[in-house]
This record gives sequence, C-alpha cells and structure tokens, in this order.
Amino acid sequence: MSEERTRELRERLGAVKERISRAAAAAARDPADVRLVVVTKYFPVDDVRRLLGLGVKDIAENKDQEASAKVAELSTEERAGLRLHFVGQLQSNKAAHVATYADVVHSVDRPKIVRALARGADRARCAGRGLPVFLQVDLDGSDAGRGGVLPGEPLAALVDAVRAEPTLELRGVMAVAPRGADPAAAFARLQELAQQVREAVPSADQISAGMSGDLEQAIAAGATHIRVGSAILGTRPSH
Ligand SMILES: *Cc1c(COP(=O)(O)O)cnc(C)c1O
Repeated sequence: MSEERTRELRERLGAVKERISRAAAAAARDPADVRLVVVTKYFPVDDVRRLLGLGVKDIAENKDQEASAKVAELSTEERAGLRLHFVGQLQSNKAAHVATYADVVHSVDRPKIVRALARGADRARCAGRGLPVFLQVDLDGSDAGRGGVLPGEPLAALVDAVRAEPTLELRGVMAVAPRGADPAAAFARLQELAQQVREAVPSADQISAGMSGDLEQAIAAGATHIRVGSAILGTRPSH
C-alpha cells in the first residue's frame, strides 16, 4: 500500500478532527460526543484498511453492491474492528441484504424499508439489541431524489413502524443539508424533529448530520454523528 496515500489520509484526518474539536468547543460540547464516520464510497478497500490503521472505527458506504463487496474483501479481524454505517438511499429489494452486514443504517425513510430491514436484520449480530437505525428526513422538501421523509409526512408513523420490529433499534434522525441553502437553518429544523422523535422514544437521542462542508453547523445544532468523505479522502473518482 502506498505510504504517501497513508500520510495524506493521516493529515486530512487530523485536520478534520481539529475542526470537530474547535466546533465542539464553540458549542460548549464534549468532542467525544461527536462520532466521526468516514464515508469511503467510490474509494478502494485499501483506503478503508489505511483508515483502520489510523484508528478510524466508523466507515460509511452508500451502495449495497459496493459496500458488500468491500466488506467481503476485509479479513475477519479487519471486519471486527470497524462499524459499517449504511448511508445511501435504500430500495426495498436491497434493504434486507444491507441488514445482513451493516452495523448501523442511517437512511430509513419508508415503512416498506423498515419491514425489509427487519427481515434481514440478525439480532445475534447486533448483540441481541436489534440493528440500530436512523430515520432520514428531507429538509429540502422539494423531493430532490436524495431520500428522506418529506416535511408534512408523518414521522410518527415511521417511528411506530420501527418500534414494531424487535430486530431494529431506533437511534435518532439523519439528514443531508439542502443544496444552496443555509445549513444552520436546516440543521435547526432537524434538531426540532429529533426532539419530536425523542419524545416518543427517549433512547432515540442521536442526530446524524453534517458532511465535509458543513460539519461545524451540524455540531452547533447537536449532531452526534458526522459523515465526512471528501475532506478526508479527497475528490471522489467519477463513477
Ligand atoms: C457522500 C456522502 C457524505 C459525505 O459527503 P462529503 O461532502 O464528501 O463529506 C455524507 N453523507 C451521505 C449520505 C453521503 O452520501
């Protein structure tokens, strides 16, 4: 594996951790309450290995085929050392498969997906507690095709659907800031929705928000998981 690439990832990872620390300090939060999830989509499995070597524990992917292929290439030991987060739009015919290998799913936005994940989820693999899931909300409201429950659609129905499945465990809400809008305003709205969900399920107190360009605003708005790709791995290779 190229030493130079490892050095580059180490530097960029350090810079992102520095941003997290500064943003947490500015928001009077403990940086340990913000989990950095590194999005490795489109990058080779060797980058995943480098990140593991640099102490990264949380890796995210957004496509079933790519994610499952990467997982299959890892050794048992490498696999045991990481938590795989699935953050991509889910199709109901793929969701059950995703639930067989993902450790966390951030992109649950329809009851049909809830049922498919529940079918595939293996409680034994998740230490008897069910597969942790986040409900993705669409803060844009324009249904731009990036997934998520639209504003006005009942989030409560989706909360109930997850609660009805013993193989799933509701953790909180997830969103991507709308393009071209103020991320701070969008994440403030997400924080309100998170509060609604927490009222129904007190243990579902987590917020997955913030990417390379807006992690500071997300941390200011209470994000517990930030999903960072390009700031660490570089510009994604074209697909
Ligand atoms: C790709 C992706 C990210 C990472 O985006 P960057 O801007 O590269 O940090 C975060 N969340 C989701 C859902 C993604 O698909």
